Amino acid sequence: MQRGQIMTSPLVERIQTIARSARSRGGDTVAPHELGPAPRIAIIGAGFSGIGMAIRLTQQGIESFTVFEKAAEVGGVWRDNTYPGAGCDVPSHLYSYSFERRADWTRKFPKQPEILDYLGHCVRTYHLEPHLRLGVEIASAEWDDDESRWHLTTVDGHRHVFDMVVFGLGQLNRPHWPEIEGLDSFGGTVFHSARWNHDHDLTGERVAVIGNGASAVQFVPPVAEQAGQLYQFQRSANWLMPKPDVVFSDRAKMLFRRLPLWERIVRTEIYLTFELRFLAMRNGSKANKMARDAGLEFLAEQVPDPELRAKLTPDYPVGCKRILISDDYLPALCRDNVEVVTDPIARIEPDGVITTDGTHRPVDTIVVATGFEATDFLSPIDIVGRHGRRLHDEWKAGASAYEGVAVSGYPNLFILYGPNTNLGHNTIIFMIEAQIRFVLACIDRLREPGVEWIDVRPEAAARYDDDLQQALVGTVWEAGCDSWYKTAEGKVTNNWPKFTFQYWWETRHHRVADFELGRALTP
Ligand code: NAP
Repeated sequence: MQRGQIMTSPLVERIQTIARSARSRGGDTVAPHELGPAPRIAIIGAGFSGIGMAIRLTQQGIESFTVFEKAAEVGGVWRDNTYPGAGCDVPSHLYSYSFERRADWTRKFPKQPEILDYLGHCVRTYHLEPHLRLGVEIASAEWDDDESRWHLTTVDGHRHVFDMVVFGLGQLNRPHWPEIEGLDSFGGTVFHSARWNHDHDLTGERVAVIGNGASAVQFVPPVAEQAGQLYQFQRSANWLMPKPDVVFSDRAKMLFRRLPLWERIVRTEIYLTFELRFLAMRNGSKANKMARDAGLEFLAEQVPDPELRAKLTPDYPVGCKRILISDDYLPALCRDNVEVVTDPIARIEPDGVITTDGTHRPVDTIVVATGFEATDFLSPIDIVGRHGRRLHDEWKAGASAYEGVAVSGYPNLFILYGPNTNLGHNTIIFMIEAQIRFVLACIDRLREPGVEWIDVRPEAAARYDDDLQQALVGTVWEAGCDSWYKTAEGKVTNNWPKFTFQYWWETRHHRVADFELGRALTP
């Protein structure tokens, strides 16, 4: 099938470039009277990304969008992860949209119910309910070259047509189940931390926890108090840092409410402090060594037993895996009813876990806390772009996208929290907002007279990826550890390798010439 006519000549492109950069320098959008009708937009996913995109569209006066969400409720990871102690290790005043501040956060590090409540509040405040299609899972998205439209098919076979698609699936939406011999044959209760079984009472039970990442670190302390015995199976140790949580007093909340400027100052101060942590993401840097010293000191303070401390001392640079923030995880591991098991798991039998040294630990329940299929971006949706190309075939060696948002050959398709936009040091909400702004700028271009599609040029995408790979060299994520930040082959597909304000700048001032504009062959 032939694709649509390309509208750009060098002269037109040049004029557009000048006009665009003049606009982007001033941060303005095209005057509304110059814009054509808004495209019909499908947003897939109703987590922080999808809800944020929907809000910003309504703020621009665009109502021609639908949000498809496979679950029965909005909230993304904050709907799915309800394990005991679930919360965020970014302070609430920063872990919220800049365009929807909240003065009455109850504590510095918010817990899952409060964040979920915040997202519900956003949906209600911006009247997004009529746009939501809950319980509708998209199975495929296919670009029609002649019509310049996306055809979406749901898992139950319904078809929908849109001019544009924005994916907001997150990076941590599909639980990863480990391949451990015998797991299926276990006779007790098994569940994943991201699908916590609240009907099952762990009181007095023997509980095996497989995995010791950010999720386990939060639920192990409350579960250890409840269980008779807890085995923490650890494949590799993690770097932990203190979590200086505070419950906000009524007076503090009143100050945030009455003095919005104070709330802004607090938010900015948290952002800048977190941003400085990026200095430690360079392997061998002084900041990284300082972080290592701080981590070792914290471990020594919290774990008096030298044998346990040795087990819990990581053998890779700080930040290679996600840095974990907790004041109560290490003390929980020191409890009499908790054992940290570092011998690898050999297999699981109907009544317990066998490690490679032959030890059999009988357990009643296994909690699988092995994370998510984080490098399988946009999976399992089948995405077919121009001339029948398939995105998941192109991403076999690892996903990549221009600014993490656009992929050449897939016009009018945008990704929020896409490849290489995750952070090890600051809030992802900042990145998502930059991406939303970028998508809005692309929507403006789509609304220019006669324009039907916008696609990043292959050479621009390749140049962007080269720069990105260059910037990744020397980061801690490349330094000898396995993590969800990279593929099994070692390609870092998840993390952004620069300061976040650089991302903000790049997405705000991207080169207009990097994009090709076109019109449909058929009306
Ligand atoms: P994770 O960080 O990916 O940790 C998975 C754990 O499972 C690791 O300890 C890993 O060991 C272990 N594991 C994986 N496969 C295994 C196997 N086959 N056998 C034995 N152990 C295995 O997952 P998570 O703890 O669910 O956290 C995922 C991410 O969610 C976090 O990094 C974070 O970004 C997000 N999260 C955020 C917060 C927050 O406060 N904002 C809270 C919770 C989660 P290895 O380390 O040896 O691979």
